[in-house]
Amino acid sequence: MQLPSLRVATTARTSVHPIGRQIQAVLDGRDVRDGLLLVSVPHTTCAVTLNEPESGLLDDLARSLERLVPWNDDYAHNRGSEDNAAAHVRAALLGHQLLVPVVDGRLQVGVWQDVLLVECDGPRTRTVELRVV
Ligand code: ZN
Repeated sequence: MQLPSLRVATTARTSVHPIGRQIQAVLDGRDVRDGLLLVSVPHTTCAVTLNEPESGLLDDLARSLERLVPWNDDYAHNRGSEDNAAAHVRAALLGHQLLVPVVDGRLQVGVWQDVLLVECDGPRTRTVELRVV
């Protein structure tokens, strides 16, 4: 079952945004009891993951990605008109999809977990697609 998409406005070139509450709000208005929710971002420079939504950690994740995959390096992708190879690599390392269980209409994540959208080439407005399988 396809659910309405979310739109998420990101705030920096690299930033991390908790979106579990928005996803739960979409589930709340629908007859979704049990299943698996596929959360996917149809973008090549944006990712989704699960982790703790503590504000310091969100900054740590963004800064760690910047250290692991520096923006300025000798990337083949950047030899033409593009300059965002690092964003593609960062997003590819994290992945573009998550499968999250839904039980009794509630997202089943750990008490310290949230669904995080990881912007790697912002700020932009991103689409998050939701499908129950
Ligand atoms: Zn590119």
